[in-house]
Amino acid sequence: AAKTEKRGTCKSFAASMDAAAQEKNRLEKDLRQAVRSGALEIYYQPLVNLESERIECFEALLRWHHPERGTISPEVFIPLAEELGLIDQIGRFVLTHACQEAMTWPDHVKVSVNVSPLQFRNGNLLSTVINALSSSGLPAGRLELEVTEAVLMEKGPRPAAILRNLRAFGIGISLDDFGTGYSSLSYLLNYPFTKIKIDKSFILNLHEDTTSRAVIRAVIGLGRSLGLTVAAEGVERELERDYLREEGCTQGQGYLYGRPQPSAEAALVANGYPMERRDAA
Ligand code: C2E
Ligand code: MG
Ligand code: MG
Ligand code: MG
Repeated sequence: AAKTEKRGTCKSFAASMDAAAQEKNRLEKDLRQAVRSGALEIYYQPLVNLESERIECFEALLRWHHPERGTISPEVFIPLAEELGLIDQIGRFVLTHACQEAMTWPDHVKVSVNVSPLQFRNGNLLSTVINALSSSGLPAGRLELEVTEAVLMEKGPRPAAILRNLRAFGIGISLDDFGTGYSSLSYLLNYPFTKIKIDKSFILNLHEDTTSRAVIRAVIGLGRSLGLTVAAEGVERELERDYLREEGCTQGQGYLYGRPQPSAEAALVANGYPMERRDAA
């Protein structure tokens, strides 16, 4: 830590590169340790039906509670886990626990789990998912997997084949962060998606940006005409919720409805206790 604190005073580029490398080394060691010691915790954030306002799903979002640095964002440690070859192990952990957790919720509430493109490479994803379902007893129809467009960039037919297999079991497949990658219509048609999640950047700009509104409207129309569920991320304000509802979006997810929260709190909310909107993230 002493090294980190001194970073601002480093005199040369080489010295600061050295500090950055050491910093990364440290984080790598800590992440390996965290995976072993249970310092990773799954938080759950509700997806709410915009018409009925009922919770239909919770998304599992990983948190790393670092002993010295506090809670570290998955935006930081997931890429690191991918680089270190830890993503399969972490992915298995999330799938197993998320399925178990969902068993404590009412039957109509699903759970969605983010899956890294790298988890499609080694051939274990299908069996990992099936094991998570059978060991928990969760029906396949209550599990959704979220993938980004990066998965569709993977070479060869494998991701498509694996997704089709998963879908054949009854598992839902969501296209996450839609609109930020290399979205192509042919992907939507050639992969077995059941849901599109509009990226939060469009929702957060909706009030001041006609282009964002145009994109949102177009995606909702497209999704609906393909028979898909359309969800919007990053719903923070009533104005955004109202717009999305009027345009016919199916589900909303965002701070307006609830932050990602620890499993015990999510379970209360899932079972009908009023949602707390305080900052649990
Ligand atoms: P994502 O799957 O797109 O998840 C949505 C992100 O938006 C979450 O960030 C969530 O906390 C945040 N969010 C939700 N509502 C709002 C809102 O109203 N306003 C704003 N500004 N943000 C909102 P989070 O939890 O930091 O996760 C970031 C990303 O890390 C996720 O993006 C996902 O790509 C990845 N991730 C998280 N958990 C896992 C995991 O278990 N496995 C893998 N492979 N990736 C994960
Ligand atoms: Mg997601
Ligand atoms: Mg997303
Ligand atoms: Mg994202």
